[in-house]
Order: sequence, then structure tokens, then C-alpha cells
Amino acid sequence: MKHASSIEVQRVSKRYTDDPEVAPALDEVSVSIRSNEFFTLLGPSGCGKTTLLRSIAGFEQVSAGSIHIGGQRVDELPPYKRRVNTVFQSYALFPHMSVAENIAFGLEMQGLARGEIPARVKEMLALVQMEHLARRRPAELSGGQQQRVALARALAPRPDVLLLDEPLSALDLKLRKEMQVELKRVQQEAGITFIFVTHDQEEALTLSDRIAVMASGRILQIGSPSEIYERPKHPFVAHFIGDINFLPGQIRQCPQNGRLFRPDGIPVDIPCAHDGDAPSGRAQLAFRPERSKLVEPGEPHHLRGVIEAVLYVGTATLYQCRLANDLKVMLRESNEGAVSARTPGSSVAVQLPPHACLLMEA
Ligand code: ATP
Repeated sequence: MKHASSIEVQRVSKRYTDDPEVAPALDEVSVSIRSNEFFTLLGPSGCGKTTLLRSIAGFEQVSAGSIHIGGQRVDELPPYKRRVNTVFQSYALFPHMSVAENIAFGLEMQGLARGEIPARVKEMLALVQMEHLARRRPAELSGGQQQRVALARALAPRPDVLLLDEPLSALDLKLRKEMQVELKRVQQEAGITFIFVTHDQEEALTLSDRIAVMASGRILQIGSPSEIYERPKHPFVAHFIGDINFLPGQIRQCPQNGRLFRPDGIPVDIPCAHDGDAPSGRAQLAFRPERSKLVEPGEPHHLRGVIEAVLYVGTATLYQCRLANDLKVMLRESNEGAVSARTPGSSVAVQLPPHACLLMEA
């Protein structure tokens, strides 16, 4: 099954109301999604993820801009004329039909020749590993099994693009992790483009080839999971994906291979790896808790502080620390089989390797 298609969204805006006081749900959003890509729209509630997905599907008419799928302009076409299908959060299975009948339904609607339907249903059941449950009704299935049926039903008409709107959010954590692996496998086997919506950053990092991080109707950054995590270009992106510390201060100099950052109220110059997009003047230094190194106060260090709280999280221990100028940071140390001897009230010093340090606008 190979029908992958690329998607071009160009300067798409969507307003649900004419009221100029209300910000648009989408504000000049542009994105190119490659064929065969597992592409995720990630962002907090209300940022416009679902609106963008529904605009691609054709359930919403865009107010401005254009959408192309596989080179064809589609933003004026009704949903059924776009080679796109959607898996909804609620599954929306027909309760009175068996698993096989649910999958066959869309094929009958599509007008597939009657003789070809059983083979297609069988192929889809195999794809989601549900052959043994073909005759069951949805009510006789677990949440994860219902999700598989919804996926098979959406893939059966062989869309070029599958849109998935928070499809795993109704599942408990363990099942959700299993279904993440399943989704990725099915996407690779089906060989089509998936556009996946979630507000769960870990899910986005695990599944995606690339992620678009959205806020307030805009895309702030598009990149691979590691680019988004390691090189966030915007404080919101850094903060939304994983834990991060911010220190306000000043960029001191710009030597050839890096920059020096002086945190407010702390007389130390912290070398930062060169980043073409780094601002100058007032800025913030951002670093992930696990990228700093805790050392004893006598050793060379950049920051020093007092541990205020110790949180044991199994593989690691988290320390909430207060720095000299009353700033708080979270630090993380891998446990590596031993329980930490650091206690609240004790002093620590922190080394920040240049590559751990990201410079961002203040
Ligand atoms: P969630 O994660 O909560 O589903 P989302 O990121 O998918 O959020 P959207 O549902 O796209 O966000 O909503 C974007 C904005 O548009 C929100 O401010 C929302 O209130 C508004 N909105 C969405 N649908 C409509 C509608 N049918 N009529 C009016 N406003 C709407």
C-alpha cells in the first residue's frame, strides 16, 4: 500500500468570527509536510492544532491561504474529494456492526467493487493484527482494540494522508505506550503520510519524524524531535518540551567560537556554544536539568547554590536549588545504582558545558 502524498500549507489563516477582538485560530500558518512522513502538530489546548487538521481534511473552510495535497490545490474542495481520512479521538465506530463490517463500511461508500471488499478487509485486519476478532462488536473490545479497528477503517479506502486527532488520549498510560509503537509500525507498513495531533510532548518526541510546535494560532518551530529538544529556538518551545531552566542576564562578548553569558547578580562568565540565531545584549540562558553537572563546591564550576528539595524519581534524582541571587533551578543527576547522598541544605556547585547552554531572547 503506497499512496503517500506531500502537503503544502501556505499562509493559512482561519477566523471563526469577524470580531477583531478575537485572535484568529490560525494566523498565517505555513508548513510543508513530506510524503510518507509521520508529522506531529504539538501545542497546548486552544493553539489551533485541531483547526489546522480540520482545514486539511476539509471540515473547515480557511479564511485565507492555500492547501495543496500531492500537488493539487484542495482548499476549495469538499472533504470527500480530498484523498484524506481522519481517525477521531472518540473512534466513532458503529456499535451495531462487527469489526469486519465497520472496516467494510467505508469501502462500500467509496464504491469499491463488492468482490474486492473481503480481501481489503482481510488485509486491513492483518495490518492492525485483529484477524481473530473480526466478528466481534465494538462493545466486546478493549479500548486499544477499538483504536485498532478505527485505524483499520480509516486506512481501508487507501487515503494518501491519514489525519489523527489525539487518537490515543482515551487510553491508559500503559496501553497508550503500546499503541504508540503500533501506530508507528502501521504508518511504516502502510507507507503513507500521517499528520498526528497531540498536546503530549513525550508522545510527539517518540513517534514523529518531525514536529511543528504551535502556540496561539502560529507555528513557532518545525524540526526533528532531537532538533526541537536540543535546539529550541523559542523560550516557549524550550519550556513546552521537557524541563528547562532559564537565567536572565547579558551576553558579554562575542569571541569567534562562542559567547559569554553573565547571569544577573552572579559574577561569572559562562561560555556558550555558538548558535547563529543567538540574540545579543539582554538574553536568557536556558539549560536542561540533566545537561548540567553537579560537582563539589571546591571543584571548578559556573554556578553555586543550596539544595532546597530532593526528589527521587527512580533512574535519577532531581534537586531544586537556590542560587546566589535567589534564582531557582532544577538539576538532575542520574542515580546509576546508588542513592544520592545530597540532602536539603547542602551546598552544590554546577558545571555547565558549553553545549548545554542555549541563548534565547529575554
Ligand atoms: P485542544 O487541544 O484543546 O483540542 P486545539 O489546539 O486543537 O485545542 P483548536 O480546537 O483548533 O485548538 O482551537 C483554536 C482556537 O479556535 C481556540 O481559541 C478555540 O476556542 C477556537 N475555536 C475552535 N473551534 C471553534 C468554533 N467552531 N467556533 C469558534 N471558535 C472556535
